[in-house]
Amino acid sequence: MNKQASKNQSEENRSLNEYSPAQELINNLPYIVMAVFGAAVFVLGFENLAWRWIGAGAYLIYAVAGALWIMVFVCPYCSYWNTRACPCGYGRIAVRFRDKQSGDCFNEKFKKHIPVIVPLWFIPVIVGLLLIIRSFSWLLLAVLIVFAIDAFIILPLYSKKHGCKQCPQRDECPWMAGKSSSA
Ligand code: SF4
Repeated sequence: MNKQASKNQSEENRSLNEYSPAQELINNLPYIVMAVFGAAVFVLGFENLAWRWIGAGAYLIYAVAGALWIMVFVCPYCSYWNTRACPCGYGRIAVRFRDKQSGDCFNEKFKKHIPVIVPLWFIPVIVGLLLIIRSFSWLLLAVLIVFAIDAFIILPLYSKKHGCKQCPQRDECPWMAGKSSSA
Protein backbone atom coordinates (compact mmCIF):
# COMPACT_ATOMS: atom_id res chain seq x y z
CA MET A 1 0.00 0.00 0.00
CA ASN A 2 1.36 3.46 -0.90
CA LYS A 3 1.65 6.30 1.62
CA GLN A 4 -1.31 8.27 0.20
CA ALA A 5 -3.65 5.27 0.39
CA SER A 6 -2.47 4.56 3.92
CA LYS A 7 -3.12 8.19 4.87
CA ASN A 8 -6.61 8.09 3.35
CA GLN A 9 -7.36 4.89 5.23
CA SER A 10 -6.30 6.50 8.50
CA GLU A 11 -8.40 9.60 7.81
CA GLU A 12 -11.46 7.49 7.03
CA ASN A 13 -11.17 5.96 10.49
CA ARG A 14 -10.41 9.13 12.39
CA SER A 15 -13.90 9.33 13.86
CA LEU A 16 -13.73 5.79 15.25
CA ASN A 17 -12.71 5.00 18.83
CA GLU A 18 -8.98 4.74 19.23
CA TYR A 19 -7.31 2.30 21.63
CA SER A 20 -4.14 2.88 23.63
CA PRO A 21 -1.52 0.08 23.88
CA ALA A 22 -2.77 -0.62 27.41
CA GLN A 23 -6.36 -0.98 26.16
CA GLU A 24 -5.17 -3.25 23.35
CA LEU A 25 -3.43 -5.45 25.91
CA ILE A 26 -6.58 -5.60 28.05
CA ASN A 27 -8.65 -6.47 24.98
CA ASN A 28 -6.29 -9.35 24.24
CA LEU A 29 -6.62 -10.79 27.75
CA PRO A 30 -9.54 -13.18 27.00
CA TYR A 31 -7.53 -14.75 24.14
CA ILE A 32 -4.37 -14.90 26.29
CA VAL A 33 -6.33 -16.52 29.15
CA MET A 34 -7.74 -19.05 26.67
CA ALA A 35 -4.23 -19.92 25.43
CA VAL A 36 -2.79 -20.27 28.96
CA PHE A 37 -5.66 -22.36 30.33
CA GLY A 38 -5.77 -24.45 27.15
CA ALA A 39 -2.07 -25.23 27.61
CA ALA A 40 -2.67 -25.92 31.32
CA VAL A 41 -5.06 -28.73 30.36
CA PHE A 42 -2.11 -30.60 28.80
CA VAL A 43 0.24 -29.84 31.70
CA LEU A 44 -2.23 -31.05 34.33
CA GLY A 45 -3.80 -33.86 32.34
CA PHE A 46 -0.85 -35.88 31.06
CA GLU A 47 1.22 -37.94 33.47
CA ASN A 48 4.13 -38.30 31.07
CA LEU A 49 6.39 -35.26 31.43
CA ALA A 50 7.33 -35.16 27.74
CA TRP A 51 3.70 -35.28 26.57
CA ARG A 52 2.78 -32.53 29.04
CA TRP A 53 5.22 -30.03 27.57
CA ILE A 54 4.89 -31.16 23.96
CA GLY A 55 1.11 -30.76 24.17
CA ALA A 56 1.19 -27.44 26.03
CA GLY A 57 3.96 -26.05 23.80
CA ALA A 58 2.20 -27.10 20.60
CA TYR A 59 -1.07 -25.52 21.79
CA LEU A 60 0.65 -22.22 22.68
CA ILE A 61 2.48 -22.16 19.32
CA TYR A 62 -0.85 -22.81 17.56
CA ALA A 63 -2.46 -19.91 19.50
CA VAL A 64 0.31 -17.49 18.46
CA ALA A 65 0.33 -18.80 14.87
CA GLY A 66 -3.47 -18.43 14.75
CA ALA A 67 -3.24 -14.76 15.73
CA LEU A 68 -0.55 -14.20 13.08
CA TRP A 69 -2.70 -16.02 10.51
CA ILE A 70 -5.56 -13.57 11.14
CA MET A 71 -3.16 -10.62 10.85
CA VAL A 72 -1.87 -11.88 7.50
CA PHE A 73 -5.04 -13.21 5.88
CA VAL A 74 -7.93 -11.18 7.39
CA CYS A 75 -6.72 -7.85 8.78
CA PRO A 76 -5.46 -6.44 5.41
CA TYR A 77 -9.10 -6.55 4.20
CA CYS A 78 -10.45 -4.76 7.31
CA SER A 79 -11.30 -1.08 7.68
CA TYR A 80 -9.29 -1.04 10.90
CA TRP A 81 -6.02 -2.03 9.16
CA ASN A 82 -3.24 0.40 10.13
CA THR A 83 -5.42 2.30 12.59
CA ARG A 84 -5.73 2.52 16.35
CA ALA A 85 -9.41 1.70 15.93
CA CYS A 86 -8.58 -2.03 15.91
CA PRO A 87 -9.44 -3.07 19.49
CA CYS A 88 -6.75 -5.75 19.80
CA GLY A 89 -3.91 -4.05 17.90
CA TYR A 90 -3.67 -6.73 15.22
CA GLY A 91 -4.50 -4.14 12.56
CA ARG A 92 -1.32 -2.18 13.29
CA ILE A 93 0.91 -5.26 13.50
CA ALA A 94 -0.60 -6.55 10.22
CA VAL A 95 1.00 -3.61 8.41
CA ARG A 96 4.37 -5.34 8.84
CA PHE A 97 3.24 -8.39 6.88
CA ARG A 98 1.07 -7.23 3.98
CA ASP A 99 -0.26 -4.19 2.16
CA LYS A 100 -3.88 -3.07 2.43
CA GLN A 101 -6.30 -5.11 0.33
CA SER A 102 -9.80 -4.34 -0.92
CA GLY A 103 -12.38 -4.27 1.87
CA ASP A 104 -14.96 -5.74 -0.54
CA CYS A 105 -13.62 -9.24 0.18
CA PHE A 106 -13.63 -8.91 3.97
CA ASN A 107 -16.64 -11.17 4.43
CA GLU A 108 -15.19 -13.84 2.12
CA LYS A 109 -11.75 -13.73 3.78
CA PHE A 110 -13.25 -13.82 7.27
CA LYS A 111 -15.34 -16.91 6.47
CA LYS A 112 -12.40 -18.62 4.77
CA HIS A 113 -9.76 -18.03 7.47
CA ILE A 114 -11.62 -18.07 10.79
CA PRO A 115 -11.98 -21.90 10.64
CA VAL A 116 -8.17 -22.10 10.83
CA ILE A 117 -8.28 -20.99 14.48
CA VAL A 118 -11.58 -22.62 15.53
CA PRO A 119 -9.86 -25.86 16.77
CA LEU A 120 -8.18 -23.74 19.47
CA TRP A 121 -11.58 -23.61 21.18
CA PHE A 122 -12.22 -27.36 20.97
CA ILE A 123 -8.88 -29.17 21.33
CA PRO A 124 -8.50 -28.50 25.11
CA VAL A 125 -12.15 -29.46 25.73
CA ILE A 126 -11.87 -32.77 23.87
CA VAL A 127 -8.43 -33.63 25.30
CA GLY A 128 -9.45 -32.50 28.81
CA LEU A 129 -12.67 -34.52 28.85
CA LEU A 130 -10.87 -37.66 27.65
CA LEU A 131 -8.22 -37.24 30.34
CA ILE A 132 -10.86 -36.67 33.03
CA ILE A 133 -12.73 -39.81 31.95
CA ARG A 134 -9.49 -41.78 32.07
CA SER A 135 -8.29 -40.37 35.40
CA PHE A 136 -10.53 -37.91 37.25
CA SER A 137 -8.95 -34.78 38.72
CA TRP A 138 -10.77 -31.87 40.39
CA LEU A 139 -7.97 -29.50 39.43
CA LEU A 140 -8.16 -30.46 35.76
CA LEU A 141 -11.95 -30.14 35.85
CA ALA A 142 -11.66 -26.64 37.37
CA VAL A 143 -9.15 -25.57 34.71
CA LEU A 144 -11.41 -26.96 32.00
CA ILE A 145 -14.43 -25.06 33.35
CA VAL A 146 -12.46 -21.79 33.50
CA PHE A 147 -11.23 -22.43 29.94
CA ALA A 148 -14.78 -23.06 28.70
CA ILE A 149 -16.24 -19.98 30.43
CA ASP A 150 -13.49 -17.77 29.00
CA ALA A 151 -13.43 -19.26 25.48
CA PHE A 152 -17.15 -19.76 24.89
CA ILE A 153 -18.73 -16.93 26.93
CA ILE A 154 -16.33 -14.13 27.86
CA LEU A 155 -14.26 -13.98 24.66
CA PRO A 156 -17.17 -13.87 22.16
CA LEU A 157 -19.23 -11.54 24.39
CA TYR A 158 -16.27 -9.21 24.77
CA SER A 159 -15.69 -9.13 21.00
CA LYS A 160 -19.31 -8.47 20.12
CA LYS A 161 -20.05 -5.91 22.81
CA HIS A 162 -16.74 -4.11 22.73
CA GLY A 163 -14.70 -4.14 19.52
CA CYS A 164 -17.20 -5.23 16.90
CA LYS A 165 -19.90 -2.85 18.09
CA GLN A 166 -18.25 0.13 16.38
CA CYS A 167 -16.86 -1.71 13.36
CA PRO A 168 -17.92 -0.19 10.03
CA GLN A 169 -17.98 -3.71 8.55
CA ARG A 170 -20.23 -5.25 11.19
CA ASP A 171 -23.19 -5.63 8.81
CA GLU A 172 -21.15 -7.76 6.39
CA CYS A 173 -19.24 -9.65 9.07
CA PRO A 174 -20.42 -13.27 9.56
CA TRP A 175 -19.48 -13.03 13.27
CA MET A 176 -21.86 -10.11 13.77
CA ALA A 177 -24.57 -11.09 11.27
CA GLY A 178 -27.99 -10.24 12.70
CA LYS A 179 -26.51 -9.01 15.99
CA SER A 180 -25.47 -5.43 15.22
CA SER A 181 -28.81 -3.95 16.22
CA SER A 182 -28.76 -5.62 19.63
CA ALA A 183 -25.06 -5.05 20.35
S1 SF4 B 1 -10.76 -5.46 13.82
FE1 SF4 B 1 -10.26 -7.66 13.52
S2 SF4 B 1 -9.98 -7.92 11.30
FE2 SF4 B 1 -9.94 -5.71 11.74
S3 SF4 B 1 -7.77 -5.19 11.93
FE3 SF4 B 1 -8.54 -5.64 14.01
S4 SF4 B 1 -8.19 -7.85 14.33
FE4 SF4 B 1 -7.97 -7.43 12.14
